[in-house]
Amino acid sequence: MMRLTTRSAPETEAVGAALGARLHPGDLVVLTGDLGAGKTTIAKGIARGLGVTEPVTSPTFTIVQEYEGRCPVAHVDVYRLERLQELHDFGFDELLESHVVLVEWGGAITRLLPADRCEVELTLDAADDAVRRVEITAIGPGWSTRRAELDDALAAVAPTAGTA
Ligand code: ADP
Ligand code: MG
Repeated sequence: MMRLTTRSAPETEAVGAALGARLHPGDLVVLTGDLGAGKTTIAKGIARGLGVTEPVTSPTFTIVQEYEGRCPVAHVDVYRLERLQELHDFGFDELLESHVVLVEWGGAITRLLPADRCEVELTLDAADDAVRRVEITAIGPGWSTRRAELDDALAAVAPTAGTA
């Protein structure tokens, strides 16, 4: 739906903040991309947009980290999960009922998560290590009414590389 280009980590955070400002409990945001692509960086911005004031750190070792903003926020990193079943073991489905859930997902098996979600795909630039392509796709009924507003907010914070 939206393709943006960012040229610094703070710019990627700003994109996250614009998205975070429009999220509410029950929303799932799936962050995909290679190691170092900026998943945790954009998660920090999303949390800021959700009103989280405490520092957001990578949950790689804890798997899930909870924050309190204007609503509860759960930041999940599945990098260390051995089996997907573990997601259910720590109560992923319950989290989704009350929290905004941000999932950092290294691989391409996102189809195993609920389909109604906002997907943020981050891609490193081969030529410039400060540049990222950020592709944001919101799928499902929970997003239809917010899509246009989200597009406008995102376009205001980062150069648009083209709208899908
Ligand atoms: P991931 O969680 O995907 O492994 P991180 O967000 O932890 O990635 O790391 C991204 C790294 O890349 C950080 O050190 C950040 O400062 C750096 N960086 C450089 N340019 C950008 C950019 N445009 N967007 C996001 N991060 C950037
Ligand atoms: Mg990370």
